[in-house]
Amino acid sequence: MEQTANLHRVWSSGLPLCVMCRQCLHRALVPHEAIGARRGNMALVKDIRFVCSQCGGRDVEFQVAARAADLKRFMDEYRR
Ligand SMILES: [Zn+2]
Repeated sequence: MEQTANLHRVWSSGLPLCVMCRQCLHRALVPHEAIGARRGNMALVKDIRFVCSQCGGRDVEFQVAARAADLKRFMDEYRR
C-alpha cells in the first residue's frame, strides 16, 4: 500500500483506483468522481474512508495503477 499517494496522483494516472477489502477480499475499481480525485487535490488516499460494498468492512488496501494493464492484472487476481 502506498502511504503517500494522494488524489492528485490518482487523477494524473488517468485510471480508476484499485481497492481491495482485507476482510472479504472483494476488489473494485473506483472512479475518480467517487473519491474526489482531481488536479491539485493533495488529500491522501489512505485517509479516505472506504466501505466495502460487499461486506461493509472498512479495512482496505489500495493501489494506484500506472497503466491500463495494471487494472486488468488487479481484477484477474480477484477470485470470486
Ligand atoms: Zn469486504
